[in-house]
Amino acid sequence: MTNPQYFDDATSVTVPTDRLAADPLPSEAAYQIVLDEAMLDGNARLNLATFVTTWMDDNADKIYAAAADKNMIDKDEYPATAAIEARCATIMASLWNAPSPTTTIGVSAIGSSEACMLGGLALKRRWQHARKAAGKDATRPNLVMSSAVQVVWEKFCNYWDVEPRYVPVTEEHPTLDRTNVTDQIDENTIGVVAIMGVTYTGAYEPVAEIAAALDEFEKKTGLDIPIHVDGASGGFIAPFLQPEIVWDFRLPRVKSINTSGHKYGLVYPGLGWVVWREKEDLPEDLIFNVSYLGGNMPTLAINFSRPGAQVLLQYYMFLRLGFEGYRKVQQESQDIAKYLSSEIARIPAFTLWSDGSDIPVFAWRLTPGHTENWNLYNLQLLLRAHGWLVPAYPMPDNLGDQTVQRIVVRNGMSMDLAKELIREIKAQTEYLDSLDGPMPHPKATDSFTH
Ligand SMILES: *Cc1c(COP(=O)(O)O)cnc(C)c1O
Repeated sequence: MTNPQYFDDATSVTVPTDRLAADPLPSEAAYQIVLDEAMLDGNARLNLATFVTTWMDDNADKIYAAAADKNMIDKDEYPATAAIEARCATIMASLWNAPSPTTTIGVSAIGSSEACMLGGLALKRRWQHARKAAGKDATRPNLVMSSAVQVVWEKFCNYWDVEPRYVPVTEEHPTLDRTNVTDQIDENTIGVVAIMGVTYTGAYEPVAEIAAALDEFEKKTGLDIPIHVDGASGGFIAPFLQPEIVWDFRLPRVKSINTSGHKYGLVYPGLGWVVWREKEDLPEDLIFNVSYLGGNMPTLAINFSRPGAQVLLQYYMFLRLGFEGYRKVQQESQDIAKYLSSEIARIPAFTLWSDGSDIPVFAWRLTPGHTENWNLYNLQLLLRAHGWLVPAYPMPDNLGDQTVQRIVVRNGMSMDLAKELIREIKAQTEYLDSLDGPMPHPKATDSFTH
């Protein structure tokens, strides 16, 4: 087809968007229409709201294109992809200091959400078995976690009939910690979720401290409460940037960990992982055995068919970067996050909530008393008009009257872009501060979810 597009009868058609068109379009025309519409999504590199990978190198793109047809569930048809999946899980078990990485079990999933469901299901089933074996009621399970958990944990509790018990976050206790974790635990508690990288602020919850409080609690009550760590972001940051923080399988109470391969695992969307401390921590009866190539392949997943390409991309990243490569990439993101947060801290209108020193994510709020004329939603809209997506949103529950604004720094955010962003934030803040009357105050919209 020749340029310009949309000039002849075949291509200058108006396509219906509520039903199938009666006739086919030329491939080139359909291609162009889809690409044109997708262009309206904006520029992913200026999107500082998402945690998910928006850039991979050319060779990764080639692997993706070559492997786009692989179905992860067809372990029979694609035994090599299945073997690579197992290898990646073992690599993560080693990274997280499992006692025996080669004999434990871990699986890929479509994202951390599915991985969290699997982790939560294992906790629930394990608790049910123990209750039934002791001749006790096993119908009213509950799960203890911070009120700042990612929405997947609300979904888990809703979909699998588990009572959520939220520990409220407050100014004094912004995360789950030693002082509040045991408040709501009883014999029906299937486990505690600890978050390495709270979505709202980027902060780590003190997993070792939480585990110690649960040790104390067990001494007093006899209740042995397991921990699942939601390391959606931190699972790929802490091992490289904060090796001294003990949060993983070094703590015997941590029975399972999930992460998002498509966040700081640096792979395109569609990949999560969950790994159990030891094989025994995953109840056997959750595993389906599928025979393949004369062998037996254990499978554990909520989905059946899903893309296998992302697993190959994860393996590519492991080979390409190694430990030192991951460390450098994550360090660069953290350096930029800290640069940005230090610049924002210098603007009188803003007070930092976090500074990006855990995961490279930080949030700030309006300095109390600074102004009645504008709020962070005004700033969000102005930045958006200049191409930058920097979301503002309310904190959870108890802190719901607090609005914060957040930046997620990912691989691909250069120092050059960071300086440009700071220039824009300063310019828009100056403009807002120059107003002699109040802006209409927009409220939290439904458009931003974590
Ligand atoms: C992003 C996130 C999730 C959900 O992960 P997906 O990979 O998007 O499904 C769960 N927990 C936390 C803490 C997250 O940041």
